[in-house]
Amino acid sequence: RTKSEGRGSFTVFDASMRMAVRERLDIEVALRSAVAQDQLVLEYQPIVRLATGAPSGAEALVRWRHPTRGVLGPTTFIPIAEGSNLISAIGTWVLLRSIEQLAQWRRAGVVDDDFWLSINVSPRQLTDRGLAGVLRAELERWDVPAACVVLEITESVMVDGGDVTEHVMEDLRALGVRIAVDDFGTGFSALGYLRRHPVTGVKIDRSFVAGLGANTEDEEIVRAVVAMSSALGLTVVAEGVETVDQRSVLDALGVTLAQGWLWGRATDPAAFAAGWAVPTQAAASGSSSSGNS
Ligand code: C2E
Ligand code: MG
Ligand code: MG
Ligand code: MG
Repeated sequence: RTKSEGRGSFTVFDASMRMAVRERLDIEVALRSAVAQDQLVLEYQPIVRLATGAPSGAEALVRWRHPTRGVLGPTTFIPIAEGSNLISAIGTWVLLRSIEQLAQWRRAGVVDDDFWLSINVSPRQLTDRGLAGVLRAELERWDVPAACVVLEITESVMVDGGDVTEHVMEDLRALGVRIAVDDFGTGFSALGYLRRHPVTGVKIDRSFVAGLGANTEDEEIVRAVVAMSSALGLTVVAEGVETVDQRSVLDALGVTLAQGWLWGRATDPAAFAAGWAVPTQAAASGSSSSGNS
């Protein structure tokens, strides 16, 4: 085992890989100052009653107004933030900003007491013993009931999370916020995980929703998730609903809450507030067309 052999292994490190690494580093460096420089923004996507389109809640989704690259979606920078220590600062910012927004909408009468906000949290955030305390202080400060907040976690949290994570989740539940398992079905969690963790709902991943109407296996998976959730007393939301056919199948399968482009994309807070009181086209047709289509 010689020095030259070791050096030789670097020949696979070609130009395109160097570029990808370079780009990742560039993004990581810029991301370091993104919070301080106020470059992160939140958009909100409605979560509706599937049968009627009546608005019920919303999910906060983070975007980054990059100084030179334009607006970047979370899939381009959240994984990078999770791979460094940047996710804590970003996660805290998202939490504080979204609760403040919720409070503003409540005060302005844009939304009522039943309205809830779903906020994504990374596995790393759930290793912070102070998370529930920070959240409690923020909810008190803005006078927002804990039940109006749903934290979306990934399945991996239940599978890989250690004792600290379990404690943090218990603290959050004791506080009264709800906890939903996001992208449900894509990870490795089983029934047992759901029972052993204080979760209150699941969000069916859009990859299963996409096949509804065409793929009977996806239909069976959704049917099983609905049956399991009802047995465990969990709320079910279907994400990524784009077509009326998908809506019909989900409705027939007993899914009552949904989110997707059929009702609306994520928008900035002003557009969200403006559109909230007015039923969307899909919502209107949903409430008047039961039985037709
Ligand atoms: P997610 O939590 O599963 O969010 C749903 C994603 O699906 C969003 O993508 C949303 O814009 C997209 N979507 C909604 N309806 C439809 C539809 O009908 N069709 C299709 N094709 N897509 C739809 P987005 O905003 O790009 O977010 C991607 C992921 O980034 C999120 O997936 C979530 O895991 C993560 N993320 C977003 N915001 C945050 C955040 O504040 N913190 C953390 N830790 N992760 C976040
Ligand atoms: Mg989510
Ligand atoms: Mg999701
Ligand atoms: Mg998803």
